[in-house]
Amino acid sequence: MRRLAQLDRQYIWHPFTQMRDWLRSEPIVIVEGRGAVLRDVRGRQYLDANSSIWTNLHGHNHPKLNKAIQRQLKKIAHSSALGLANEPASLLAEKLVEAADNFYDSQFAIYDSHRRPARKSKIVNPKLEKIFFSDDGSTALEVALKLAYEFIRRTRAKPAGRASSRAAQPKFLSLEGGYHGDTIGAVALGHIDLFHRSYSGLLFKTDKVMAPYCYRCPFNRARPERADAREYRRCHWECLGKVEQTFTRQKKKGNPYAGFVFEPLMQGAAGMIPQPAGWLRQAADIARAHGALLIADEVMTGFGRTGFANSQLPAPNSRILFASHQEGVQPDFLCLAKGLTGGYLPMAAALTTEKVFNAFLGKYEEFKTFFHGHSYTGNQLGAAAALASLDILQSRESIRSRQVLEKNLRDELATLWALPNVGDVRQVGLVAGIELVKNWRKREPFDLRERAGIRVCEAMAKHGVLTRPIGNVIVLMPPYCTTRAQVSRMVTVLGDSVKTVLGG
Ligand code: PMP
Repeated sequence: MRRLAQLDRQYIWHPFTQMRDWLRSEPIVIVEGRGAVLRDVRGRQYLDANSSIWTNLHGHNHPKLNKAIQRQLKKIAHSSALGLANEPASLLAEKLVEAADNFYDSQFAIYDSHRRPARKSKIVNPKLEKIFFSDDGSTALEVALKLAYEFIRRTRAKPAGRASSRAAQPKFLSLEGGYHGDTIGAVALGHIDLFHRSYSGLLFKTDKVMAPYCYRCPFNRARPERADAREYRRCHWECLGKVEQTFTRQKKKGNPYAGFVFEPLMQGAAGMIPQPAGWLRQAADIARAHGALLIADEVMTGFGRTGFANSQLPAPNSRILFASHQEGVQPDFLCLAKGLTGGYLPMAAALTTEKVFNAFLGKYEEFKTFFHGHSYTGNQLGAAAALASLDILQSRESIRSRQVLEKNLRDELATLWALPNVGDVRQVGLVAGIELVKNWRKREPFDLRERAGIRVCEAMAKHGVLTRPIGNVIVLMPPYCTTRAQVSRMVTVLGDSVKTVLGG
């Protein structure tokens, strides 16, 4: 067993990891998993408290997923989608289109407890009925980006006299702190300085706009309380005002934004930053009113991760699987990956409308083809797993267990407010971010160099709970099969580790 660790250290370069630190410690070598539990080569057990970097939905070694993959494996593992169709990809496409049609309709009203009157949206939601499969979250975003870019180029009237000018190129707007993957196009859409700064010379320019971050919002006039900052904030929705201003400014330049890219309900890699109820719907309405395509990055939020209760909204339909739909927003591009296969195999999808699809139709010699594809596009094993995963997600047992998990997580997380080093506990459905601070009354952050989040996660691992921090934010995102006792264990170990490491 030593040999595996040794080989790893000798040859493998790990993602988002300072390898000097890695090489100084003994890696945990995972050999098995069942449900929410991972087992390492030494037989030690761990709770998978971040669902293996946000991918796993129903637990490891799920009998139905295993069976679906085995059944497919007896037929064929992979054949190319370049020039060929295949059985599971076709069946999956139909199911995904159905799932993407399940949302609040355009009569959605904003239930807003903060100033803005409830208003009904007049926007007619598009139907998503075409799917481009790829491999991971980053490629799903690349596909959406290229399609949106080319669609706008082909369909939008060019401003007089500026047809060829760079200023008239389709331009994209995304959120501060946004993260959409690590390939170059996806990096260009992102706005996390620490990750993206070094590559600025390689990137095309996109604009960013303020995203709601109630806990650290300069416009929130409320003093800190021992509750999620969304609940006690005092503001005038200045964040939405910024969205409106940014769109208007760009329109005045004669080149309105081509697309608005966002992670709905909760921004993940930004630090698990949730949007207050109503923000998404209103931001989407502004973007649409300015003619921008909506590109929803549901790589993290998709497939039920954002749960059911969005407290100020009417009880959502329990069959809704996507965060955008919880606010009645139907994007023009819905980007999915991570949980698509239940967390078993790398596969992604970008769903879009017939209108976008039609802009790429023409005689061969017009060369309107979408010149993009990956070797494993529409992979048969992945599609078989995804079909089984969707089946599980739509079962009553899964809906019930997600409702229970959401409540269990809420109840357990409430205990963390007793800790002075816990500044904000933010939960959206089955995802939570716990922001660590030096002093909750002042919201004073730890310097990143203090590695507060990393040290807390290292202590948690010693007590059998695995997750990764985002800076000073500890992520809890358990698989849907996690029991009450397991959730309780995750939160207790987190709280104890905060006390031990940070002394509060
Ligand atoms: N978008 C979001 C919102 C993500 O959280 C991630 C990954 N954490 C990605 C895109 C990129 O996905 P992948 O790592 O599969 O390329």
